[in-house]
Amino acid sequence: MARLAQTAGLTDVQQEILATVRDFVDKEIIPVATELEHRDEYPQQIVDGLKELGLFGLMIPEEYGGLGESLLTYALCVEEIARGWMSVSGIINTHFIVAYMLKQHGTQEQKDHFLPRMAAGDIRGAFSMSEPGLGSDVSAITSKAVKDGDEYVLNGQKMWLTNGGTSSLVAVLVRSDEGHPEGTAPHKSMTTFLVEKEPGFGEVRPGLTIPGKIDKMGYKGVDTTELIMDDLRIPADRVLGGVTGRGFYQMMDGVEVGRVNVAARGCGVAQRAFELGVQYAQQRHTFGKPIAQHQAIQFKLAEMATKVEAAHAMMVNAARKKDSGERNDLEAGMAKYLASEYCKEVVEDAFRIHGGYGFSKEYEIERLYREAPMLLIGEGTAEIQKMIIGRRLLEEYRFQG
Ligand SMILES: Cc1cc2nc3c(=O)[nH]c(=O)nc-3n(C[C@H](O)[C@H](O)[C@H](O)COP(=O)(O)OP(=O)(O)OC[C@H]3O[C@@H](n4cnc5c(N)ncnc54)[C@H](O)[C@@H]3O)c2cc1C
Repeated sequence: MARLAQTAGLTDVQQEILATVRDFVDKEIIPVATELEHRDEYPQQIVDGLKELGLFGLMIPEEYGGLGESLLTYALCVEEIARGWMSVSGIINTHFIVAYMLKQHGTQEQKDHFLPRMAAGDIRGAFSMSEPGLGSDVSAITSKAVKDGDEYVLNGQKMWLTNGGTSSLVAVLVRSDEGHPEGTAPHKSMTTFLVEKEPGFGEVRPGLTIPGKIDKMGYKGVDTTELIMDDLRIPADRVLGGVTGRGFYQMMDGVEVGRVNVAARGCGVAQRAFELGVQYAQQRHTFGKPIAQHQAIQFKLAEMATKVEAAHAMMVNAARKKDSGERNDLEAGMAKYLASEYCKEVVEDAFRIHGGYGFSKEYEIERLYREAPMLLIGEGTAEIQKMIIGRRLLEEYRFQG
């Protein structure tokens, strides 16, 4: 029988990269993931290994020292990594969103300055849209930048920065009314600033504080933080793309890549849950036979495998669409929505198959059970995906009567 989640039409290079990543995941991530996660410990050794493999530069063009690979290659790598431990995929995701935004929208000087060191993993990226009072409604951002000579002065509080502590470059979205007439639409008065800082916590640059790690139910190991700007001075040449007022569009472009990434994570976590479920079901006996021989459990396995396949196919389709240069908001929204919902369901079924042992911290499924819900929220909730999908459908199927 064919294994689940195979991808047709990959090049030799893509297959080689994936085989290397899969091997790394099996040998270096899976054996230590649950223990590190329970200790909420940053996986430094794993990150060093990813750096050595060149993964931080996977999608960065070769002229800047990266591997110049496609979004599809990246997404398939993320799927493999999330199969090992979702937190590790979180460490590379925000890095890639920032590198992608720089590649697509940065000035030449910004690309030359950041991308080579990002490709080497020496500069690591985080991105920051959310605030304590908003996540879905990005147009309501209250953090502000005010021009002062050759600099901007930034004030406000940001929330939920994945890699907020460990990163050294944060793409921060704030409101900047400078140069725009009164009454400009909210999404046209936002600017992305490239904020360089020391990794760590406390005052990491004059006017910039990362208070500490948020204590989370899952997705541990990777740091998630707040960010406080108190008269933070940023030079005008650190406006992404050099022109204010474009931040909303730049971030939305980045988030589309991020949505494919979250879909890929959902696929990876669901695959691992399936693997754990199908193994356990053949070992555990009840009523004189392995539980896999009870039809109710076999049906569960069949449903789980079907969901793994469907999510994988939609994720691959969304990545290929973006790689072809076409708009992929519909495909990315559908893939993110479906893969995260299916992931939660597959994980729950694997948990049920484990009976009481699924509730024990000794079993890996306990960790997956706490990780899956994050995918329902991050990079836009299910409701937000459905709003995007619905809007696009009405564009495509406009009533002509
Ligand atoms: C672990 C973690 C890591 C994160 N990392 C980052 C990061 O790196 N950078 C970053 O910027 N953000 C990050 N986020 C924030 C994340 O993007 C937001 O939490 C998410 O967008 C939802 O926003 P919210 O939490 O403010 O919920 P809200 O927007 O307050 O939504 C609350 C509920 O209302 C629903 N809702 C909202 N509006 C509507 C509507 N119009 N119609 C119907 N339902 C609606 C939502 O779907 C949700 O169910 C992270 C979050 C988590 C939990």
